[in-house]
Amino acid sequence: MKNSTPTSVVSRFAPSPTGMLHGGNYRTAVFAYLFARAHAGRFIVRIEDTDTARSKKEYEENILDALAWLGLEHDALYHQSSHVKRHEELLHMLVEKGSAYVSTEAPKDPGGRTEVIRFKNPHTSITFTDVIRGPITVDTTDLGDFVIARSFTEPVFHFAVVVDDADAGVTHVIRGEDHISNTPRQILIMEALGFARPVYAHLPLVLGSDRTKLSKRKGARAVTEYRDMGYLPEAIVNYLAMVGWNPGTDQELFTKEELVAAFSLEKIQSSPGVFDEEKLRWINKQHMQRLSDDAFIDILKNRHPSNSLIDAIGASAAALADLRERLHTFGELTDMLAHGELDFYRTRPTPNTAALLWKKEPSPQITQSHLRAVCESWSALAETDFTAEKLKTAIWEYAESNGRGNVLWPTRVALSGLDRSPDPFTIAECIGKAETIIRLTSACTILQSA
Ligand code: GLU
Repeated sequence: MKNSTPTSVVSRFAPSPTGMLHGGNYRTAVFAYLFARAHAGRFIVRIEDTDTARSKKEYEENILDALAWLGLEHDALYHQSSHVKRHEELLHMLVEKGSAYVSTEAPKDPGGRTEVIRFKNPHTSITFTDVIRGPITVDTTDLGDFVIARSFTEPVFHFAVVVDDADAGVTHVIRGEDHISNTPRQILIMEALGFARPVYAHLPLVLGSDRTKLSKRKGARAVTEYRDMGYLPEAIVNYLAMVGWNPGTDQELFTKEELVAAFSLEKIQSSPGVFDEEKLRWINKQHMQRLSDDAFIDILKNRHPSNSLIDAIGASAAALADLRERLHTFGELTDMLAHGELDFYRTRPTPNTAALLWKKEPSPQITQSHLRAVCESWSALAETDFTAEKLKTAIWEYAESNGRGNVLWPTRVALSGLDRSPDPFTIAECIGKAETIIRLTSACTILQSA
C-alpha cells in the first residue's frame, strides 16, 4: 500500500534531443503538464542528453522553444548530462552492495569495450499497475543480468532515468507505451537503490492517417512547423489533449485552463489515438474565431509587418469578418497574399468585358446600365455610410427587381476583377467611396467600348 500522506504531484517530460519532436511526442508533454497542473503539482522537463553522439543543441533549443510556445511552462529544467557524478556514485554503490557487478567481456568488435556494468538479476516477478493498462506482471528472469552502464561514467538510459526521476521527486511517470517493456528493469534498479516507485501511466501510441505509428520519418511534422504555418498554440494543445483522451462529454473546444480542470489520467483511452490533420485545422479555426478582432489583427501584423494590405483589411470590419470566416490557419493568408488573391483591396483591377458579364445577362449595354444605377445609389451615400450593410441596403431593391446575379456579379467583378472574391459590399467598404466609384465608372467605360 502507498502511504497515506499526500505527496505533492511531480510529473515530467523527458525528451531526448536527438531530433525534432512531432505532435505525438508533445502529446506526452501535454498530458504530463495537465496532470501536474490539475493536481497543483510540479511539471519538470529533463533533457536526456547523455547520448552525446546523437544529441544536438539545436534539437534541444527546438524542444524548449516548442514547449514555451505551447505554453507548457515548466517548474524546473534539468539536463541529464549534469547528473553524471550522481550516476557514478550510485553505480559504485550498487556494485559495492553486490546488486551490480563489473563484467569483463569479449569485445564484439576489435575496438569494442571489454568491461560493462551489469545488474544482478534477483529473478523475481515484478507487478506494477499502469493507470491506463492495469496491472502488468513480468518475470524478470528473462531479462538476465542486463547492462546498466558501459562504464561508471556512462550509465545506460534505464539507470539514468531511475536516478533522475527519484532525485527530482517524480511521483508520476507519464510516457509513451514504447517504454512499458523498460519498466520492469527500471523497477529492479529502483528497488536496489531503495527508491520509491512512481505511479506509471503509459500512453497508447499516436497513429498517423495511415494508421501506423506517427513518425518523423513518415512525414509527421515537428510542432514548430505548425507554429510557422500559423496555427495557434492553444489550438495545438487543445487538439493534442483530445488525441486519445476525452472528458467524457461532447465538449471538444477547451482553453488550457479548461483542460486542466477536466483532465484525468483515468479518461485516457487504452486504444491508440489518431493524429488527424483535418480535425486539427478545424480546431484551429475555432480557436481563431475565439480571438478578439484586435488580437486577430495583431497576429496578422506580426506575421506580415508593415503590409498596407493588412492595414486596409484591419480597418474594415466587413473585410476582416470575411477573412476571419475563410481562414483555418494564419498561414493560409500568407499563401493568399503570395498568390495576390487579395490584391484587389489595394490595386485597381482591369476586368475585361467577358468577365463583367453575368452568364444569364450577356448584354454589355444592360450590364452597364446596372452598374450606372449602382454607382448612382452609392454616390448618394455619405462617406461615413460606406459600410457593407448600408451599401447593401442602398441597392438591394434594385438588385432584387433586376435579378441579383445581373446586378451583383458585374458590381463585384468591377471591384475585384476576379470570378471569386468577397461580396461587393465588403470590397466597397474596404476600399472606400472614392475608389469604389472610380472602379465602377471604369467598368462602365470598358462595357461602353464592347
Ligand atoms: N528520453 C526518453 C524518450 O525520449 C523518455 C524517457 C522516459 O520518459 O522515461 O523516449
